[in-house]
Amino acid sequence: MTATLDVFDRHESAVRSYIRSFPTVFTTAKGHLIHAEDGRQYIDFFAGAGALNYGHNDDGMKAALLDYIANDGITHALDMGTSAKARFLERFHEVILAPRGMEHRVLFPGPTGTNAVETALKLARKVTGREKIVSFTNAFHGMTLGSLAVTGNAFKRGGAGLPLDNTVFMPFADFIDGGFDSLDYLERMLAGGGSGMDMPAGVIVETVQGEGGINAASFGWLKRLNDLCARWDLPLIVDDVQAGCGRTGPFFSFEPAGIKPDIVCLSKSISGYGLPMALVLVRPDMDVFSPGEHNGTFRGNATAFVTATEALRFWTDDALSREVERKGAIIEEALTAMATKHPQLQPEVRGRGLMRGIALGVEGAADQVCAEAFANGVIMETSGPDSEVAKLLPPLTIPEDALREGLDIMARAVDTVAA
Ligand code: PMP
Repeated sequence: MTATLDVFDRHESAVRSYIRSFPTVFTTAKGHLIHAEDGRQYIDFFAGAGALNYGHNDDGMKAALLDYIANDGITHALDMGTSAKARFLERFHEVILAPRGMEHRVLFPGPTGTNAVETALKLARKVTGREKIVSFTNAFHGMTLGSLAVTGNAFKRGGAGLPLDNTVFMPFADFIDGGFDSLDYLERMLAGGGSGMDMPAGVIVETVQGEGGINAASFGWLKRLNDLCARWDLPLIVDDVQAGCGRTGPFFSFEPAGIKPDIVCLSKSISGYGLPMALVLVRPDMDVFSPGEHNGTFRGNATAFVTATEALRFWTDDALSREVERKGAIIEEALTAMATKHPQLQPEVRGRGLMRGIALGVEGAADQVCAEAFANGVIMETSGPDSEVAKLLPPLTIPEDALREGLDIMARAVDTVAA
């Protein structure tokens, strides 16, 4: 136990959870490595739950930030016009939106992913004048009440007693066996025929459910969902908070499905440096909030705009996407080897790009694997409704040898748990 670890026990609310999974005091970090007070070093297969896709303390972003601060760049400006925001908007349009033929407006909803989701839900309701939102089983969209209402995880609601009657949950993608087709069902409900269903205000979906257990929807399913929304004039909201910013390969996770959602939520790695930042991309004709109708104190984090602008250097070509694909294949191979070696753990390999996981059907096994990996120098966490998935979310920039070293440590952890 490190010297200061008990400080958290003495003073902090019991809500803290990562201190329980990773019982140490972290001090510094660089790239894919995190250092602790006791001198130990960890390979990061967690990347701030997806907030550090470019690793810790990237040199270019650090230099841009230090320069901005040294010159007394404005750090707080609500959503006033700042040069930092102007530079970000121009560059984001040039590097990300324009090459993809996206004409979306950029709305800054507040500092975190859940702010983006709340904004998207509120916007879809205003656009349509309707209330219900279609969401999916095992979805995770955030911890504020609106986001929780569309989150398919009763535990996370913490008994809060939310107005859930405004959410319609459908089975996610192709994850229900037995030939049930949720989109076919939804379409029939919408078409009436005595279903009595209100026309929804929109549909919110993750392309790969991160917290829900690394469930990747097929591109075909996403395309069908997109087409269904278009047919029924339902705004399609893609929550790309975790799967976006290159996590699955392309900048937006939905690109290979050949779709352009009406509303897109981004956060986590959009600042590139782990600074709080979120944005919502809005189809121009859906940009309907009146000035003042949706505001907040921390809507424009100028320091995050500075690092976010610098982070866009990773997207001027497709080199990073190709790297994600290559490293994703390395992980898939390693996880498949673990699964083949230990069928008694009831393993299932999941994921896309560098958003990967192995579900272990034996109760508690995934948690044990993560604990064992941590004891041996790898930081990773579980996901899924029963914490049954050992999840790998390394920085996209992790060097291949470090990735392989971390996977070896994980494989030994699985061996230990299986023994
Ligand atoms: N949506 C998704 C898909 C997420 O994974 C998360 C965070 N895990 C959120 C929304 C909420 O983001 P935040 O924690 O920044 O509020």
